Amino acid sequence: MIITDNHMHLYNHLRLKALEEFKAAGGTHVFLVSLLSHHYNFVPKTGKDFSVAFDEHVKLVEKAKKIVKAYAILSVHPAEITVLGSRYGVEKAAEIMMEALDVAVKYVLEGKAVAIKSGRPHYSVSEKVWKLSNKVLMHAFEVAKDANCAVQLHTESYSREGMEEIVEIAKKVGFKIDKIVKHFSPPLIKDFEEIGIFPSVIASENNVLKAAEQGSRFFVETDYLDDKDRPGAVLGPKTVPKKIKELVARGYEDVAYKVCVENVEKVYGVEL
Ligand SMILES: [Zn+2]
Repeated sequence: MIITDNHMHLYNHLRLKALEEFKAAGGTHVFLVSLLSHHYNFVPKTGKDFSVAFDEHVKLVEKAKKIVKAYAILSVHPAEITVLGSRYGVEKAAEIMMEALDVAVKYVLEGKAVAIKSGRPHYSVSEKVWKLSNKVLMHAFEVAKDANCAVQLHTESYSREGMEEIVEIAKKVGFKIDKIVKHFSPPLIKDFEEIGIFPSVIASENNVLKAAEQGSRFFVETDYLDDKDRPGAVLGPKTVPKKIKELVARGYEDVAYKVCVENVEKVYGVEL
C-alpha cells in the first residue's frame, strides 16, 4: 500500500531517522521541502546563492531515497522577504527571491527536484511588502509554467477571497490552477474544488476523515518540522500513515488511493 506525506522537512532533530519512523508506521512516499536560507547557515547576496540550500537539500533527498521514495521540493520561503529585507531592504529581497526561483526551476528541469515552493507571508505585513510578495509569487508561477511543474504555496490562513486572489495571479501568467498546491490546508475539499487550487490537508485532529467525507481531491501532510528546539511542534512523522490507515479501516480505501497515488501522479507529474 502506498502512503504519501505531501510536505515534510528534515532539519536538525531526527533527520533521516524521521523517515525510518515514517516507514515503520507504513509510509512509503514523501515530499521533502527545503527550508529558509538561515537554516543552512548562509546569507544569500544574490538569488544564485540559494544553490547552497538547494544542493544541500537535494543531497539529503538522495540519502532519503535509500529509506523511502522521496522527492525534493525547493522552497523560496515567503518569509525571506522579511529575513533578507531586514538586511538589504525589501525591494532587493524580492529581487533575490525571484532570482532564487529561477535557480530552483533549473533543478526541476535537471530532474533534481519535482516542484518549487513560494507563497506570501502568513503574518501581517505592510502593503508594500504584500505587493512585493505577490510579485514574487507571480514570478514563481511564471517560471513554474516554463518547467511545467507544481508550485506548493505557503500563505496566510485560508480564506476564500485570498485563494481566489492567488488564482487570479496565476491566471495572469497562464499557470495551470490545478498545479497549485496549498500547503497546510483546512479540510474544505468542496471549496477548493470550486476555487481550483489543490489542497494539502494538514493531518491534525480528524481533518483527514473530514476531507474524505467530502471527496478525494486533496493531499495529506504533516509539515513535520524536525526542529530540535520545537520537537512537538506541528505533527510527527508517523501521523500520515496512521491517518491513512484509519481511512482505509473506515471504508475509504478508494479515497486513500486517490490521495496517495493518483493525485500525486497527476499534480506532480511523477510515477510512483
Ligand atoms: Zn513546511
